[in-house]
Amino acid sequence: MKYAETVLDLVGNTPLVKLNRVTDGIQATVLVKVEYVNPGGSSKDRIAQRIIDAAEAEGKLEPGGTIVEPTSGNTGIGLALVAQQRGYKCVFVCPDKVSEDKINTLKAYGAEVVVCPTSVAPESPDSYYSVSDRLAREIPGAFKPDQYSNQNGPLSHYETTGPEIWRDTDGRVTHYVAGVGTGGTISGAGRYLKEQNPDIVVIGADPEGSVYSGGTGRPYLVEGVGEDFWPTAYDPKVVDEIIASSDAESFDMTRRLAREEGLLVGGSSGLAVASGLKAARALGPDAVMVILLPDGGRGYLGKVFNDRWMRSYGFLPAEDEKTVADLVG
Ligand code: PMP
Repeated sequence: MKYAETVLDLVGNTPLVKLNRVTDGIQATVLVKVEYVNPGGSSKDRIAQRIIDAAEAEGKLEPGGTIVEPTSGNTGIGLALVAQQRGYKCVFVCPDKVSEDKINTLKAYGAEVVVCPTSVAPESPDSYYSVSDRLAREIPGAFKPDQYSNQNGPLSHYETTGPEIWRDTDGRVTHYVAGVGTGGTISGAGRYLKEQNPDIVVIGADPEGSVYSGGTGRPYLVEGVGEDFWPTAYDPKVVDEIIASSDAESFDMTRRLAREEGLLVGGSSGLAVASGLKAARALGPDAVMVILLPDGGRGYLGKVFNDRWMRSYGFLPAEDEKTVADLVG
């Protein structure tokens, strides 16, 4: 019989898929690493597993303990999966720009969710960073993973994501691209890949306005990437180049990935591909670029895949609904 002992055994070993249409005019081989096939639906399952393993080993998380974390959703899902399997409670703190579907998903796994305003400064007592600190202090037996500084995040990508990319490309990968949120995905896998071959170019994809590409954290709409501060999970030494893309470019590419490549992914995946392809245009046929797609698109059906929402921000032209006459010619 072939089966997984628990869902946690299904984390990682995600596939690479070649892009064939959105890469029109590009000579390089462009592969995407599809992280939505992880059981919790994102690359964050990887960090959750390692962070909880380490917390148990270090005595920071004891039986009956509670995990408290500010998360935009995916890290929460990963943590909730591991926590429910091992008997811990979870309380998650989210900014109010996060979709209701993501919040309901966290609750479905048995977690509690506290929603905080996006529009306040990180140091405000109402910010999601401050609220989660207070809960971690006040709930007995609380453990705060702090994905922004916990080195087990980047380490999980050093130990799994990087080796998988190296193995599955037979060591032929020349460029690695990932969106930067906490920075764990780019720093961990990037460090592993550079240890195998120092010539591999590591490219961070950033939403225009975020600190990684020289901004101040001005609001942008892509979720899960970009920051208004520099987290210690991010190691700038590993990253050769940051390529920024606008919300419009990111969302346009997100929709093209679904429509042309059959990949229903989130907005940060569109960002990563939009930024990656800017670099790929200059590359020759021997280049092999791997772009990591962090999560799936089901959590964003009311936003990037909703024509009305896209129009309300000017990302789509005014009205393009088809009439019967258009369809029958
Ligand atoms: N995309 C999405 C949807 C995410 O949730 C995250 C995690 N914040 C990222 C990208 C960025 O990954 P990392 O935190 O490892 O930089």
